[in-house]
Amino acid sequence: MENNAPEYTGLSCPLPLPHGEQIVLGHGSGGQLSHDLINRLFLPAFANPALLAGDDAAALALPGGRVAVSTDSHVVTPLFFPGGDIGRLAVCGTVNDVAMLGGSPRYLTAGFILEEGLEVEILRRVIASMQAAAIEAGVQLVAGDTKVVQRGKADGLYINTTGIGLIPPGVTISGMCAQPGDVVLLSGSLGEHGIAVLAARGELGLETTVCSDIAPLNRLVAAMLAAVGVTAAGYPEALPTFPIHVLRDPTRGGLATSLNEIARQSNIGIQLYEEKIPVRPEVAAACELLGFDPLYIANEGKLLAIVAPQEAEAILLAMRNLPEGQGAVAVGQVLSSPPGRVLLKTTLGSTRVVPSLAGELLPRIC
Ligand code: MG
Repeated sequence: MENNAPEYTGLSCPLPLPHGEQIVLGHGSGGQLSHDLINRLFLPAFANPALLAGDDAAALALPGGRVAVSTDSHVVTPLFFPGGDIGRLAVCGTVNDVAMLGGSPRYLTAGFILEEGLEVEILRRVIASMQAAAIEAGVQLVAGDTKVVQRGKADGLYINTTGIGLIPPGVTISGMCAQPGDVVLLSGSLGEHGIAVLAARGELGLETTVCSDIAPLNRLVAAMLAAVGVTAAGYPEALPTFPIHVLRDPTRGGLATSLNEIARQSNIGIQLYEEKIPVRPEVAAACELLGFDPLYIANEGKLLAIVAPQEAEAILLAMRNLPEGQGAVAVGQVLSSPPGRVLLKTTLGSTRVVPSLAGELLPRIC
């Protein structure tokens, strides 16, 4: 490979990629090859003043107040699957975790672990997908890192992302804040991400049309906050206690595991109603075939909210106004007992305990 690549000078002139080019150990050396890779692939996708400054860290201007920070490593296999890829996942996964605190995501960092021999074209496609997702979510990638490991020491590529967002004044959302009487809301149907990734592996002979639901949820959260009175200045002190108590994206372990975590954090019980929980027929069919329960399958574009009952209807209406929340429904309620437990009232009328996921149901789905 040539070492005389010119400096990146603007979005309009990314350098062409030689056909069939592969990642070599030198791309992670910190020397000229690393420099070339960054100039050809990363800077054209993510150019912004903080990144282009080219320093060891990004200098960011943040107003005063609380900041939400989250980090997540992404190891999904395969790298591409119906509805998404590891790049979209790496942006949305972290954006969504920041949003689950009521934070408005602003900045991302990304660390890439590349395997020697990876096709550079695959990396380019992943970066293009990250760029599109970052634009969709309104975040800037302000710092990054690339390392290369020997052939066989990684599976193509892994991506770690860290996100930073601003929490409006007066907004307090935490898994510890659920209260008896609260309503449990769900933004849409369950299980699409896990089933889509599993089908893409082709291991189980599963043929399905299910696409992953991966999506940034920060716009949905912003609409929910606005529905209860949060403005650019935050949540007015004159209003009652902040009514959105908990937000969570039910990713690994699914809805059941997320609700168990919240039940323990808040020391309350949660009652779910099976008939209210939306599951698409093709997901239900795949789960039945494989012996899975949709309550435990990962989602990447859904959130659950635990809210004060008097605001539940207004929040639901705001959610349904957006495509990412159009399937929003109330699926349960918070009880004072049994503390730390989730109960499901089944369609047959019986009640059973829904435990957390034990062990790993589907490895490497995110
Ligand atoms: Mg999460």
